[in-house]
Amino acid sequence: MELLTEIPVKRVHRSTITEVDFSNLEFGKYTSDHMLLCDYTNGEWQQPMILPFANLSLSPSTLALHYGQTVFEGMKAFRMDDGRINIFRIDKHYDRFVKSLDRLCMAAPSKELFTEGLLKLVDTDKAWVPKQKGAALYLRPFVYASEARFGVKISEEYRFIIFSGPVPELYANPIKVKVETNYIRAAKGGTGFAKCGGNYGGAYYPTKLAREQGYEQVLWTDAKENKFIEESGMMNVMFVIDDTLVTPLLSDSILDGVTRDSLLALANDMGYKTEERPVAVEELAIAFRNKTITEAFGAGTAAVVAPIQTININGIDYQLPGYNKDSLLNKLKTKLENIRTGIEADVHEWNYIV
Ligand SMILES: *Cc1c(COP(=O)(O)O)cnc(C)c1O
Repeated sequence: MELLTEIPVKRVHRSTITEVDFSNLEFGKYTSDHMLLCDYTNGEWQQPMILPFANLSLSPSTLALHYGQTVFEGMKAFRMDDGRINIFRIDKHYDRFVKSLDRLCMAAPSKELFTEGLLKLVDTDKAWVPKQKGAALYLRPFVYASEARFGVKISEEYRFIIFSGPVPELYANPIKVKVETNYIRAAKGGTGFAKCGGNYGGAYYPTKLAREQGYEQVLWTDAKENKFIEESGMMNVMFVIDDTLVTPLLSDSILDGVTRDSLLALANDMGYKTEERPVAVEELAIAFRNKTITEAFGAGTAAVVAPIQTININGIDYQLPGYNKDSLLNKLKTKLENIRTGIEADVHEWNYIV
């Protein structure tokens, strides 16, 4: 807590909060009044500051713009039933942030800077944490290579920023997805496990093609044989097969999702069988024919769970039976929300109270 008091805050003259209709939020549209900013120069992180949210001024030769040294995190702060505010699983997000930054040869902020920066920023903008059920303050920590130099090289300067914005609960209607066997998201030895900008830019085109065919997302398969399921769009993917919660085993081509990890833990707590193992595309097709697959969903911070209605495998649309309040995905979502709002005990100590 020592650093917390040391981060200087320059407050906005006038908050823009009155311009936001909190009962009608759109994901990604609004940003809160302040941001944390800290530069890495001369081999060390300089004094962090909390400043009014504002545009950046960049040299056109800023390395991040050309060679992709950019890494981000996505996390949320929630308002609890008793009015307190918590940030979800800072530790796990920090560990992943460092792994991503290491893979891209980028400087990582210390855990203290990350943690205290988040706590102080959320405290500064606590009025922005929505009171509406299911809504949250989305937090976006990121680092980019800020050195101005156009030769290909590892940057020697970085900028760490955290900004935030209120987001609504996403009531995801069950979506149609297509098993992608032509394009890939990540290969063994690549950067799939890292939350780096290039992974997303590279995923747009295949996703756009899938949308033109009537599917909202692609189910990515492994780069070598296109035989095993990896992720669903920008989310991890989970299935209920034979009453067991099944999800692909983590690898260097799969993002280690905090939601994935949390849902696996909660399913275990609730007495469900869980399996982290390779999930073959063929296994899914067989499970559809035998009617042993009952649920499929994406798991990620933005929506928590995104139910899947249809999976296209090699040109055939297979239908899931549908979802109700007894579906495992809804039980897991409710359980996680109850922990975040303080209705249920936080036995895993996931909530960091601001
Ligand atoms: C962020 C992300 C996820 C989900 O991670 P969470 O920590 O649960 O939000 C899954 N897959 C990809 C590719 C991601 O970028």
